Amino acid sequence: AAKAAGSQLMIYTAELDESADAAAQLGADLRHSLDDGDFRVVYQPIVELTTTRFEAVEALVRWHHPVRGFVSPVDFIPVAEDNGLIVELGEFVMRTSCHKFAGWRRDLGAAAPSYISVNVSARQLREPEFPDVVAAILAECGLEPAALLVEVTETALFGGGTAVHAVETLHRTGVRIALDDFGTGHSSLGLLRTVPVDVLKVDKSFVDEITEGGGRAVIVDALIHVSKGLGLRAVAEGVETAEQAAYLRELGYEYAQGYFFGKPVPEPDFTPRALVVDQA
Ligand code: C2E
Ligand code: CA
Ligand code: CA
Ligand code: CA
Repeated sequence: AAKAAGSQLMIYTAELDESADAAAQLGADLRHSLDDGDFRVVYQPIVELTTTRFEAVEALVRWHHPVRGFVSPVDFIPVAEDNGLIVELGEFVMRTSCHKFAGWRRDLGAAAPSYISVNVSARQLREPEFPDVVAAILAECGLEPAALLVEVTETALFGGGTAVHAVETLHRTGVRIALDDFGTGHSSLGLLRTVPVDVLKVDKSFVDEITEGGGRAVIVDALIHVSKGLGLRAVAEGVETAEQAAYLRELGYEYAQGYFFGKPVPEPDFTPRALVVDQA
């Protein structure tokens, strides 16, 4: 109905956001924005809980839509995955963040984070050239493969196939692999045996349980044991309070990420700071 009006205002109503028309419009807008340079990358610290050092940063894409302004990746990443533009967008994020990371190393030396974490979609992993593209970007930035950690979801690897093969290839070259949103997707602990994984990112929903009453968080407790038992690094996601940080540290978590430590920003401040996590 709104199509006849031909008005952007009409198209961008919440109701039509759900429609195929709106997704097609968003997809077309993504194409234009890729050409116009409307995408940016922001960086969120991953903190070592014992020392409060900024151990790493996760790169997260931001879209400044010419009409709508801020659009969440939660809304546009699925569209980019469906229409294939995630391949180009993902390469932009990978290249931008690796260059950024190399710059921090040059400027900050030992104070720079030790790796950059980049989200990669199943659609990217299924591109036969993907491992070569990653290798070329690392070479162009003068980075060793271990400087990069690729975050993939369990769901992306579910069912094996090309995506798992790509992960294996990357891992063989020295790039490290994280399972993102661990515990929320097609969870299978068996995946941890068959796919070379270095890091488990424990989903925010489980971290939230710490402060959701009862004072117990069964899953974060279980997952630290799983991680340690398998020799993996665990990173707790979405930590928003000192209480959660202290609880996680007591459980034995060494790494965490969340608004409590820092929001995603274009230029994180890596100067050493004293983050108090003891006072719940
Ligand atoms: P994710 O990979 O699980 O990233 C974590 C998300 O949680 C980010 O949302 C981050 O801003 C947010 N976050 C971090 N700490 C907190 C916290 O303490 N509280 C709350 N409420 N949120 C927190 P963002 O940037 O909106 O990204 C959402 C999702 O979009 C990401 O989830 C990821 O799945 C996807 N995404 C973002 N950038 C990229 C990208 O470059 N490539 C791909 N393939 N996916 C991306
Ligand atoms: Ca992630
Ligand atoms: Ca996550
Ligand atoms: Ca998520």
